[in-house]
Amino acid sequence: MEKEWTILIIEDDKYISNFICMSLKQEGYRYIKTSTGREAIGLCYANNPDVIILDLGLPDMDGIQVIEHIRSHSDKPIIVVSARQEESEKIRALDMGADDYVVKPFYMGELLARIRVAVRKLEKNPGVEMMESFEKDYLRIDFSKRSVYIDDREIHMTPIEYKLLALLVMNRGKVLTHNQILKKIWGYEEGADANNLRVFMATLRRKIEKDTTNPRFIITEVGVGYRFSEE
Ligand code: CA
Repeated sequence: MEKEWTILIIEDDKYISNFICMSLKQEGYRYIKTSTGREAIGLCYANNPDVIILDLGLPDMDGIQVIEHIRSHSDKPIIVVSARQEESEKIRALDMGADDYVVKPFYMGELLARIRVAVRKLEKNPGVEMMESFEKDYLRIDFSKRSVYIDDREIHMTPIEYKLLALLVMNRGKVLTHNQILKKIWGYEEGADANNLRVFMATLRRKIEKDTTNPRFIITEVGVGYRFSEE
């Protein structure tokens, strides 16, 4: 039997909330809904939903705080649906651990597509990800040997380039912000900046992309960060 996915909707606008619930039901998802951040955090513990849809402007707390609470115990996908369209808000939500960001007003078809992406990822990685190898088109990574191959020919990677590539692949489909990448690769202490990152990304791309002006693997999300393509 197919698994029934449970989706938690955190939204205080009744009209939007009902609209999302109706659409989810039609698509065969189970759903739970709430209009407050506090109840949402409780429902996350009690029901362990598979995907979380979160509005940022809630009556009792900021949605960013809700992300922080949920991320302290769960890595389930969080899709932010918010009227806040500033880049800085998007970055803040992604930095806190949101997986995706949809700006209101939105098309239901788009939200449903993003939910399908989240669910596909869950299907592929039901638990903690422990990949031994990864393959896509002409790129192959052997994680046990820390080796990267293009058209079956091993290419030389510096440790940082390898870490960058592995990080992006492990999070493929998800936008990683400049800050997230800097923290993961260089740690908090060192003074790596976004310019540094751009330089490393350029050399990494030259090694793995056949057409660096039209990258197949590492996609730039302008002003936000990078994403490894899932297509
Ligand atoms: Ca709201």
